[in-house]
Amino acid sequence: MAKRVKISFLGGVGEIGKNMTCIEHGEDIIIVDAGLTFPDNEETPGIEYVIPDYTYLLNNKSKIRGIFITHGHEDHIGALPFLLKDLDVPVYASPLALGILESKLKEFKVEKYTLYPVEDRDVIPAGKMSVEFIRVTHSIAGSYALAIWTPKGTIFMTGDFKIDHTPIDGKHTDLTRIAEIGEQGVLLLMADSTNVEKPGYSMSESNVFKALDAQFVLNKDKRIIVATFASNIHRVQQIINCAVLHDRKVALAGRSLQKIVDIAVDLDELHYPEEAMVDIDKIGKYDLDKLCIICTGTQGEPMSALTRMSENDFPQLEICDYDTVLMSSSAIPGNEKTIFNVINNLNKRGAEVIYQALSEIHSSGHACREELKMMFALLKPQYFIPVHGEYRQLKQHKELAMEMGMGANRIFIAENGNSIEIDPSGIRVGCNVPCGQTLFDGKYLVEDVNGLISDRKALATNGCVICVVNFAPEAVSQPVIVARGITIPEEVREEIITEITNEITSGKLKEAGLESGKSFLRKLIAKRIQKRLDKRPVIVPVIVE
Ligand SMILES: [Zn+2]
Ligand SMILES: [Zn+2]
Repeated sequence: MAKRVKISFLGGVGEIGKNMTCIEHGEDIIIVDAGLTFPDNEETPGIEYVIPDYTYLLNNKSKIRGIFITHGHEDHIGALPFLLKDLDVPVYASPLALGILESKLKEFKVEKYTLYPVEDRDVIPAGKMSVEFIRVTHSIAGSYALAIWTPKGTIFMTGDFKIDHTPIDGKHTDLTRIAEIGEQGVLLLMADSTNVEKPGYSMSESNVFKALDAQFVLNKDKRIIVATFASNIHRVQQIINCAVLHDRKVALAGRSLQKIVDIAVDLDELHYPEEAMVDIDKIGKYDLDKLCIICTGTQGEPMSALTRMSENDFPQLEICDYDTVLMSSSAIPGNEKTIFNVINNLNKRGAEVIYQALSEIHSSGHACREELKMMFALLKPQYFIPVHGEYRQLKQHKELAMEMGMGANRIFIAENGNSIEIDPSGIRVGCNVPCGQTLFDGKYLVEDVNGLISDRKALATNGCVICVVNFAPEAVSQPVIVARGITIPEEVREEIITEITNEITSGKLKEAGLESGKSFLRKLIAKRIQKRLDKRPVIVPVIVE
């Protein structure tokens, strides 16, 4: 019998994004979450998203018993359209997470998949292990913590959570069950570290209503546009409730929002009187102060409805002096600049913009310190691995556990690729697993990541020079230099052309052959441009016959 249980991190530690964890015991592997990350545009320009490298899973296909999803956010389900093309394993998740996932699978044309909806406290067998779904509150409905029952003990993964005692749908974090599991004994806890830097307790989602309502009163003569995350169904519910209370019609702007609202209505997760909603194409029939528009774009995403409105590129709606925009969100660190850009543009068009600095119209979906302590106290784990955080957050979470009395030798800060083994003698790093990043440019996988990114950066900063040349000494046509994204002064252009022409007339280039000829040209042009302009453009020689 296997003596240990092994936890491998394919993503989600040392970062917030692309969460994916494998739990392995003997001949069984279960996968928890399969998320993606939206990368930093400066580091990897133009790359749409990054998913975990799942080579380890492909090499152990026959052991995988299932994929268990904590909730429907992109950083937890976004890699599934790719993973499910390669792995035929069942996926277990809440109906809302599955609804969102299924619409993605259609978009990516994945046809073969098995999805099982789960409910509170469902227990799913997975080989010699089993997985229990325990309800938690978060910024999306249908969120679960997982208790993984292994022959070596219970592993508890909180998933993304907060402890909201007044959730919008009345479905609380199942503290009763969590306490029971704690009482039975927990071998290992892996907990959300997102808000470990924030003291106290997170604000209840219900509190947002008061702030929203106050803004609706203050802006009673204006058209109100509220931006939020599409997947935050409870927030959308509160915005609709507020609009109905203030006798306004609601219109949804943006396809992704419409899609998620349809899914949530189908699943009975979102409720409103039918007459409250109007089609965005028909808002022209109503007075501006009788409308509430809900849209996406809180992070300044380029294609989102709010960004397009701010650029006057949203056909159904033109921003004017009668608009107040409520940003019901907080900036994800790193997005501030793009968000402020959108706010500036909305202001220029006459709209007033209220964002978090001005009002409490947002509450986070992640537990603050006191909630993390409560989770820890209820579960009393033997070992602890903080997850879902950058290194500094994991470290702080470790210190929080130590404050709660746990010895440092029982806490492990993991890195992506680490395999952690736990057996009766302790916790240690085992053999690492592959954990690189898989990048997607548009919908296609990037094979040569470094080459693509360095070319793209060079193109962005230095431009591109294309040189069309006939190597034959007897050719009548002169070499042609085309420059994009770089200015080549006429005299420099002439110098380059003269130099190349001399090489052609001497017959040297023809002799050198195609490949060496190209590389010769590349060097010649690079040297000249570096010397005269101090630039290093991408050089593309094109040889014609
Ligand atoms: Zn997350
Ligand atoms: Zn989440």
